[in-house]
Amino acid sequence: MPDTSKYSVLFEPVKIGPLTARNRFYQVPHCCGMGHVRPQAHAAMREIKAEGGWAVVSTEETEIHPTSDLSPYAEQRLWDDRDIPALRLMTDRVHDNGALAAIELVHNGNHAQNLLTRGPILAPSDMSLSVAYPKQARAMDKADICEFRRWHRNAARRAKQAGFDIVYVYAGHRMTLTQHFLLPEYNDRIDEYGGSLENRSRLIRELLEETHEEVGDSCAVAFRFAVDEMMGADGMQAQEEGCAVVEMLAEVPDLWDVNVSDWTNDSATTRYEPNDGYQTPYIEFVKQLTSKPVVAVGRLNSPDMMVSMVKRGIVDFIGAARPSIADPFLPEKIRTDRIEEIRECIGCNICVSSDTLGVPIRCTQNPTMGEEWRRGWHPEKIDPKKDQDAALVVGAGPAGLECAVQLAKRGYQVTLAEAGNTLGGRAVREARLTGLAAWRRVADHRIYDLQQRANIEAFLDSRMSAADVTELGISNVFVATGASWRRDGVGRTSRLPFKSESPETIMTPDDIMNGLLPNAGPLVIYDDDQAYLAGVLAEHLVARSRDITFVTPASVVSPFTEYTLEQARIQRSLIEKGVKIITGHKLVAVTNSSCEIRCIYTEQPRHLACATLLPVTERIRQSDLFEELQGNARSGIETLELIGDAAMPGLIADAVYSGHMAARNFEVDPEDVAKQLFRREIVSLKNA
Ligand code: ADP
Ligand code: SF4
Repeated sequence: MPDTSKYSVLFEPVKIGPLTARNRFYQVPHCCGMGHVRPQAHAAMREIKAEGGWAVVSTEETEIHPTSDLSPYAEQRLWDDRDIPALRLMTDRVHDNGALAAIELVHNGNHAQNLLTRGPILAPSDMSLSVAYPKQARAMDKADICEFRRWHRNAARRAKQAGFDIVYVYAGHRMTLTQHFLLPEYNDRIDEYGGSLENRSRLIRELLEETHEEVGDSCAVAFRFAVDEMMGADGMQAQEEGCAVVEMLAEVPDLWDVNVSDWTNDSATTRYEPNDGYQTPYIEFVKQLTSKPVVAVGRLNSPDMMVSMVKRGIVDFIGAARPSIADPFLPEKIRTDRIEEIRECIGCNICVSSDTLGVPIRCTQNPTMGEEWRRGWHPEKIDPKKDQDAALVVGAGPAGLECAVQLAKRGYQVTLAEAGNTLGGRAVREARLTGLAAWRRVADHRIYDLQQRANIEAFLDSRMSAADVTELGISNVFVATGASWRRDGVGRTSRLPFKSESPETIMTPDDIMNGLLPNAGPLVIYDDDQAYLAGVLAEHLVARSRDITFVTPASVVSPFTEYTLEQARIQRSLIEKGVKIITGHKLVAVTNSSCEIRCIYTEQPRHLACATLLPVTERIRQSDLFEELQGNARSGIETLELIGDAAMPGLIADAVYSGHMAARNFEVDPEDVAKQLFRREIVSLKNA
């Protein structure tokens, strides 16, 4: 018998105010790009978490008033009674699955631009908006503060009407009015809401007490508080005012949900915070100061770490946003001693990028995330196979592995052929680069799964030609042969190759991932991909090459990583490591000792010393095998599908999704598949 008692402490019920949570697993509030815009998709996604065993399932931030209008982003909204039914969808589903539903009420102060409502922007003091937009927030007068308290109270009442069990007051992420009142940097008031810490925290105390008065008979009141801004003496520090706030308000909320601020620190990626549990040193004091339950986060993936945190008296609840996204069934897998089956979060923040782009959530590890309602996908269930018996998957990168595992789960006999000597493709190759080690988990999870199944046979060192495939005689073939990086500089900025007199000076990202190193002498990295890889390569190579110049047509390094909350860290890291950065330039020519770049605005040329050029621009799809098979009418193949990067180069998340989709849709009527995509939440034409 497996020893499940080791984890039994995680399944103890815990009291929160008037309620009891069934265990210690707490899905803290997290954004998902669904919010008030896609309430059915939202409810279905939260429902899966409840089904997966979380004791508490929370919303994302919920705007309480039109002066906290986060449009065009899709957060929750509880401006008035008309917003109640959409939220009721979630609470009913969460309750049906035995969990408590929590709602994170928010007023975003100067973080809200009010682009839709054009309402006044409110802050403790006069100030600019937190985002680059030419408007300013105005200092709230006493009447404004009274109004704000009334809005919050009304929202708490509506939250209760919508069926929520836990109602939040939220002071975190540098995005909320209550936190802005707390921080001297934002608050230079001279009345009873400014000056001393007691004054700056007055509004929070009032909101907590008023929320209690309004809904405390049946709901618990949670306080989400960022104890440390990770700015040293320039911001709130856990050991200074962070601690004093907890001391002052210790028994006022029914639950402390503590983290670090801002969002980039709270949701740090593994690239810069490789250790799971990285927030513990900041929050571990909290429980000593309060008798109320404490929940904390920090990519808590490991059940052993969870047990240790509870036993050491650091937390009562294991908080999770990303681990609950990567594996909504994490609690259930621990409870039933299926630890090895947990799909661990890799800390890549592609989930975050959906919210920052204003589209429904997606996840690298969990391709079903965000598709629970639209496509009816479940992270643990898949329909059994139909008439066909066998399938061949060619290529064992993220797309091929996911496709093979899901096909096997459906009951097909799967043959997986991989040209290389390892499984995992780019997930393993990129994980060799500095900062990306955790990305291996994408391969590891799937390799473990396929090893448990008798109906998958994986063959390494098996490069398949069209003749090999035909000879094998399997009539359903999924081709996941990936893509390779271009050498010629063609990309977003230039559709023509750069001039090259010495191809031997050029290396590609694939060369580096395969273990080759640049020549001695100056290295020029040319990034027109503008995502993450060129920055990773610069960090990877900086230890080996002292003279690196990073050239990009973009105006900052790795602009896509703004969406994953990493851009500032990447740029800082490259500067600190001595990488020279040239923005706003494109590459036009390379010789054996120099390269020519030009300003993208003026065409003014510059010449850089260059012993090795590493262009990171675009990938070429490896689709030859697919095309050959497609052209061979006598191959005997009934189903032939190109998936992953070979079909459309993208993120690892896209490759996994593509593999999953192909496996799910195999032997499904194409019309039914098309219907999934067009399942939409249509705006009502009723005047409300
Ligand atoms: P994706 O992200 O789409 O999964 P990857 O580039 O990570 O793509 O993986 C593609 C995998 O396919 C690589 O491991 C590569 O070695 C393998 N591969 C490419 N061509 C063949 C082939 N003809 N036969 C077998 N494996 C192949
Ligand atoms: Fe974790 Fe990445 Fe999934 Fe987000 S997208 S939950 S960071 S694996």
